[in-house]
Amino acid sequence: MPEGHTIHRAAKDQLPMLNGHALAVSSPQGRFLEHAQEIDGQVCLSVEAYGKHLLYEFSNGLTLHIHLGLFGKFKTRKRPAKEPVGAVRVRMESPTHIIDIKGPNTCELLNPDERKALITRIGPDVLRKDADATRASTRILKSKAPIGLLLMDQAVIAGIGNFYRTEILWRCQVNPLTPGKDIDQTTFDSLWDDAVALLEIGVKYNAIITVDGVARSKSRYRERVNIFNKPHCPKCHGGITRIEMATRRVFYCKTCQPTI
Ligand SMILES: [Zn+2]
Repeated sequence: MPEGHTIHRAAKDQLPMLNGHALAVSSPQGRFLEHAQEIDGQVCLSVEAYGKHLLYEFSNGLTLHIHLGLFGKFKTRKRPAKEPVGAVRVRMESPTHIIDIKGPNTCELLNPDERKALITRIGPDVLRKDADATRASTRILKSKAPIGLLLMDQAVIAGIGNFYRTEILWRCQVNPLTPGKDIDQTTFDSLWDDAVALLEIGVKYNAIITVDGVARSKSRYRERVNIFNKPHCPKCHGGITRIEMATRRVFYCKTCQPTI
């Protein structure tokens, strides 16, 4: 599943392609035909990411809401347009670019009230300047749930996916099984700050890079990680433990991330 940085990067890349233009919107696959007609010809006013959700706002007040889920993909290209390849749910055409969206988990139109309700449901997004970290800390510091689960709960804190969860907890020396209520404010702040720093690097380089000081230019499109799916801890050289939380893999080092 794409992590938050992928969606923010998509918003950043697509904004100049679409913003301020009347877009031709269609559904080559046909599954979004009627809704595509409602925004066809409307001017795109903004492209914004909230966690893993991408929102395209149009001049008639409607917002196209996309959540890629596990298998969804964006394909962007410059004009001229080519025939859609595969099942393209939505195609948006500006005077300069074509954006195809395939296989999204969510693809729907929202009115202004529904847009507001969605944004309220999403936890503070570590990549947004307007994020209110207190909303996340309030919930995490009184929760009995393990921090490994809370960091992935997009209603609690938005943007962190599976790779980043493991890496942030290791970097901050927090065991993923620690209940939220056993975490103090200082530790929460370090988790939040590290998430912001790592995901910003992710947006900039379009890659998951969690090892300090790696050659970023060479690591584009490759994961540069400390312990995710690795046999040994780079700090203490001990073995890495693998567990599953809510069906997703989590890795940690028993020495560097002891249970409290
Ligand atoms: Zn270690």
